[in-house]
Amino acid sequence: MPSQIRNVIIIGSGPAGLTAGIYTARANLGPLVIEGELSSTSDQPGGQLMLTTEVENYPGFPEGILGPDLIANCRSQAARFGAEFLTDKVTKVDFETQPYSVWVGDPGSPKPSFRAHSIIVSTGAQSLMLGLDSEAALLGHGLSTCATCDGFFFRSQEIAVVGGGDSAVEEALFLTKFADKVTIVHRRDELRASKIMQDRANANPKIEFLWNHVVDDLLGDTKLDGVKVRNVRDGAVSTLPVSGLFVAIGHRPNTDLFKGILDMEDSGYLKTRPGSTQTNVAGVFACGDVQDHTYRQAITAAGSGCMAAIDSERWLESRS
Ligand code: NAP
Repeated sequence: MPSQIRNVIIIGSGPAGLTAGIYTARANLGPLVIEGELSSTSDQPGGQLMLTTEVENYPGFPEGILGPDLIANCRSQAARFGAEFLTDKVTKVDFETQPYSVWVGDPGSPKPSFRAHSIIVSTGAQSLMLGLDSEAALLGHGLSTCATCDGFFFRSQEIAVVGGGDSAVEEALFLTKFADKVTIVHRRDELRASKIMQDRANANPKIEFLWNHVVDDLLGDTKLDGVKVRNVRDGAVSTLPVSGLFVAIGHRPNTDLFKGILDMEDSGYLKTRPGSTQTNVAGVFACGDVQDHTYRQAITAAGSGCMAAIDSERWLESRS
């Protein structure tokens, strides 16, 4: 991997980072995409799409496309125009002085691994999960973290949503367009969701609540057949016969690396200037789910990756 000072380094390789890679490569900026670490679930190359199966709402694929295939296509498209890839995890950044420094491996090393004039941060976010052993095998096979992405697959079925916040209620309401019945499983006896969302859920005849229950296990080997739930008050265990379970207990942006360096919301999402991908540090741009807690779609991430590439290109031009 050449060690010269680069025009641009892209940290993260979901749809945002790879789209930024395509655009900056086509602009002859010779981007290096540090794509994440294979053994990691939070920083894995390709991001959350690697954990999904069929993607049916990404424009341009009328028959749908598998999440990992979509990522592989974007990656080879960026490589075709000269983007370089490094399969590793960024362990430290220094955006104090130009050119900016990026470390992979030992963060204590006095010498950075790479330096670049501009940085595009596209480290994504991760859905909080329940922490059950069975989750990994069933994700994309009945277990989902995205109703917009997967709701369509559950037409006329009985499904459940875990969580009691706005996300859980919003997902449940959305899922009633497809499912016959949606049970919201919540660990307490009152929702955290806003009053208006509660009212909507209460008024929807397809939504039922299972109060004071937690999910203890997921049933099924290759696809979800049911959910083992436990009443937290009396310990009674029962099975919820559902073919789908949507986990909506919150998201966490992957921004630990940038604490104290880039401005972020209390929730950890990076702040960008409205209508732009510019962060508080000149030449550092953020795109995709790491700065978006509203839309969180592959297509919106890709769109903001394109914006970050153009913002970066213009910023580099303005300095030359
Ligand atoms: P949230 O408000 O943090 O709610 C998370 C929910 O999951 C809570 O009800 C929590 O239970 C439950 N939970 C957390 N960990 C759990 C676990 N291990 N097992 C079972 N349940 C667990 O997260 P969110 O719903 O994603 O919302 C995040 C922010 O985005 C909020 O500010 C929300 O208002 C906003 N948002 C707004 C909209 C909208 O306005 N349309 C839509 C989505 C999100 P407890 O209640 O017991 O803590």
